Amino acid sequence: MIISGKIEETREQIKKWKREGFSVGLVPTMGYLHEGHQSLMEAARRENDKVAVSVFVNPIQFGPNEDFASYPRDFEKDAALCERTGVDLIFHPEAEEMYDEDFCTYVDMDGLTKELCGKSRPTHFRGVQTVVSKLFHIIPADRAYFGEKDAQQLAVVRKMARDLSMDIQIVGCPIIREADGLAKSSRNTYLNAEERQAALVLSRSLTEGKRLIEQGERDAQKVKRTIQAVITQESLAKVDYVEIVDFADITPLRNLEDARQGEVLCAIAVLIGKTRLIDNFIVKVDKAKKE
Ligand code: AMP
Repeated sequence: MIISGKIEETREQIKKWKREGFSVGLVPTMGYLHEGHQSLMEAARRENDKVAVSVFVNPIQFGPNEDFASYPRDFEKDAALCERTGVDLIFHPEAEEMYDEDFCTYVDMDGLTKELCGKSRPTHFRGVQTVVSKLFHIIPADRAYFGEKDAQQLAVVRKMARDLSMDIQIVGCPIIREADGLAKSSRNTYLNAEERQAALVLSRSLTEGKRLIEQGERDAQKVKRTIQAVITQESLAKVDYVEIVDFADITPLRNLEDARQGEVLCAIAVLIGKTRLIDNFIVKVDKAKKE
């Protein structure tokens, strides 16, 4: 397994593989890897000859009062997990390698980024799009793998790739959860024992919402209220948002049947103590069910 912190060296290696006729899958991450990340690597492993993983805590996607400094890091453990999973290359640059002192070019988007996490994290997606674009230039992969855990990010990256005619296929992968339902996240390490227990309210509330939809409910307000009511019962939890949107363009839905491609995203962000956690589910809503 190759480990490189340098842009040019990484690009040369990927170009060499491409010249040799190998397909390349890329998994962008911020490290502190867990089974969620690993599932993306395994998908990339199945579908490509070579797998590259980037491990980079991207400063420009964090707001001024967010957790950039305290974000968990353990590169040795990450490298061991990558090695075990059959990764061929890890790109692990320093921030100075990615961003020159006079760096001033960003990738931004008018739609999709304003709702959900964009409301409380107004510069977050600009940072994500910019770093993902850079990674796509440094590692010109055939496919890039993103988790549905960050469903808005997946939708934004897909749209960016389409709008900017990027020659890469964006592959979405399902959410990996702990045995008790909590979505795996590097940020779960911030939770103390009591908060860890309280955090179960995220998946529990979503299960309730999903059940309503499966029973035929199509009124987004009613589903949202049910989810909110479950979260409110947990005293350590504070709702940032509960939203139901069209997964294709992240616009709010009143009726679930209005999703243009039939895919509805129900997404929540909840503060458990000081830790902000996100979770979601995506459902296909069959228009015919109404009649
Ligand atoms: P992060 O390191 O948190 O930036 O995540 C890197 C990639 O892993 C993103 O595409 C995430 O959506 C994905 N990911 C993180 N947690 C999970 C999870 N529990 N299940 C599936 N994918 C995940």
